[in-house]
Amino acid sequence: MQLTCYGAAGEVTGSCHHLRCGDHQVLLDCGLFQGTREDESRNARALPFDPAGIDAVILSHAHLDHCGRLPLLVRGGFRGPIHTHAVSIDLVRILLRDAAWLQAADTDRENRRRAQRGKPPLQPLFDEADVDAVMRQMRPLPFEGHDEILPGISVSLSQAGHILGAASVLLDLQEGGVRRRLLYSGDIGPDGTALIPDPDPPAAADLVLMESTYGDRDHRSRGDTLDEIGRVLDAAWDDGGNLLVPAFAIGRTQEILALFAQHFERWKLGRWQIFLDSPMAIEATAVHDRHADQFHAKARAMIGTRRLHELLPNFHETPATAQSIRLNSVRSGAIIIAGSGMCTGGRIPHHLANNLPRPRTDVMIIGYQSHGTLGRRLVEGAERVRIHGHDIRVSARIHTIGGLSAHAGQSELAHWYGAIQGRPPVHLVHGEPRGREGLAARLKADYGVDAGLPGYGNPITL
Ligand SMILES: [Zn+2]
Repeated sequence: MQLTCYGAAGEVTGSCHHLRCGDHQVLLDCGLFQGTREDESRNARALPFDPAGIDAVILSHAHLDHCGRLPLLVRGGFRGPIHTHAVSIDLVRILLRDAAWLQAADTDRENRRRAQRGKPPLQPLFDEADVDAVMRQMRPLPFEGHDEILPGISVSLSQAGHILGAASVLLDLQEGGVRRRLLYSGDIGPDGTALIPDPDPPAAADLVLMESTYGDRDHRSRGDTLDEIGRVLDAAWDDGGNLLVPAFAIGRTQEILALFAQHFERWKLGRWQIFLDSPMAIEATAVHDRHADQFHAKARAMIGTRRLHELLPNFHETPATAQSIRLNSVRSGAIIIAGSGMCTGGRIPHHLANNLPRPRTDVMIIGYQSHGTLGRRLVEGAERVRIHGHDIRVSARIHTIGGLSAHAGQSELAHWYGAIQGRPPVHLVHGEPRGREGLAARLKADYGVDAGLPGYGNPITL
């Protein structure tokens, strides 16, 4: 039995782990590389295995860096089932359709440029038909069930606490007389979020493949983080302009809406007009409403029979492009929540281009900003940024709220591992070098284990 990482090895995107067990080949996730143009160009390369030879995929959760290469897998000849939680099926549909649409738009734009230079046109990475094929191959798995997906391979999902439906994956493997249990953490969430249950304690396993996004640091405490958001909201109101909140359509958007509802009075949110300017986030919020039974008990009690968009009296959804453009003329008093979370696409770049040059603008960054993205440049204090080919002066105030991450911090990650019976061998993925080296050092100090840091394509024997 062999496990090989074809992505998220020393980086935070492109999750794709290939498992060979006897005659079977299974993938854990099949995500896109995201970040710089160069990072993203890796998505166009042929997959490092024969897609037609893969028997099944197990998808941990509905983020593009975990599911975004599934259409390429299907296009390459993969015809097997994709096992994942029912919530993830609904979220992946939204996400991949949007990705296909964006690629079509990007390719069109690029091809117009190429035509002027007499160059042949490019094809998009995948299209809507590929996405439809992916959706037909999806099979729902519940949390805590135990399903034999192939002879000798059983799967059970547990709550990872990262976004709605996000799972850690436990695989019971049998080859000849040998039995092994492999635990893949997926992305682990923090404790105490507004909607998503805390991660389940991990099951016993012989080998653990674990994320390390924030392996080098702890987040600010929840209490301090809420105080900090309150101060940013006050400062933004005093500055007298708009407050822009770049947010991932899935997860961060619903978390911030639930927090706004919880702290509506304390944060004096009644004086603002709050806009959710993202068709995808609006759809994802509706999926959350449909699966509200998956929220933790406290959230279910707060929300009652209402839907998320009914929690705030001054909340407006602006799905239509014309509605979004009208926001350009709003100079003050608006909180605009829009994607993409790292400011690389969607409507937030338009609002940034429009508002960043104004000193009255405030920007509140609430999610992870990976290397090479516009969001990361803003967090790092860039004085000028390029948006849609224009040079934009940054006069706005940029606030980074680290404590709202959908990822567990170092101590929570270490405790998660520490709860596994027998402290089995662990390999760290889904972290930039300082993240996974930081977690490796912490695991060594706390538990005396030497964590593996697998490289791309280097097999691990189970
Ligand atoms: Zn994720």
